[in-house]
Amino acid sequence: MLQIKNVSKSFGKQRILDKINFDVESKKIIGLAGPSGSGKSTLLRCIQKLDHPDEGEIICNEITGFMFQDFQLFPHMTVLHNLTYAPKQHKMNEIENRALNLLRHLSIEDKINFYPSQLSGGQKQRVALARILMMEPTLLLCDEPTSGLDVATISNIVALLSEIKNSMDITMVIASHDLDFLIQITDRIILLKNGNIVVDIDVKTSSDTIETLHKYY
Ligand code: ADP
Ligand code: MG
Repeated sequence: MLQIKNVSKSFGKQRILDKINFDVESKKIIGLAGPSGSGKSTLLRCIQKLDHPDEGEIICNEITGFMFQDFQLFPHMTVLHNLTYAPKQHKMNEIENRALNLLRHLSIEDKINFYPSQLSGGQKQRVALARILMMEPTLLLCDEPTSGLDVATISNIVALLSEIKNSMDITMVIASHDLDFLIQITDRIILLKNGNIVVDIDVKTSSDTIETLHKYY
């Protein structure tokens, strides 16, 4: 949908567009006519946000594309490259924004220009987790996510994984020898021993999870 609301635009003393109003329904083809200099291109440029009105507003919740009068092909690029350049840039920006969002989410956005060797264990782990989440998995497999971490960092991981679970609609299988950790984070614990499942317990409904697990551990 496109709405042009009271749009005015002047260049110097010349009022090119004076309180222009019209709506464009979806799926319609609209002609914009007028003599040279009547403001057709200016209006198109405003819709594309290459320029903006002095007054009024343009409401446009469409994905716009602008074909320039002189095409504006990149002369130094092949035909294929002309087609792929902008989408690549666009994707790159999208990817970077997603990375920054995740890093912000994991409270590690201040380390974006650091190398792994400059990070603590907990920070490395958060980066590793963020890197995995970049691929938007629907099943996250974590192998010993608490190993080598101090108690404070472990509780951060618990909070982090819980938050990811709540916000990302993701399934997780977490392998850990740390029963206390698993009880905090999981819905269900499967205890493997000698190649068999010896316990398969619903953490949320069982009142003696820890006792049961220790009994068979
Ligand atoms: P149309 O596309 O209908 O021929 P334009 O929108 O290109 O008209 O231009 C409308 C008027 O605005 C013209 O007089 C043009 O010279 C003037 N104009 C357009 N862009 C600029 C600009 N960036 N600076 C100054 N004047 C401009
Ligand atoms: Mg024009």
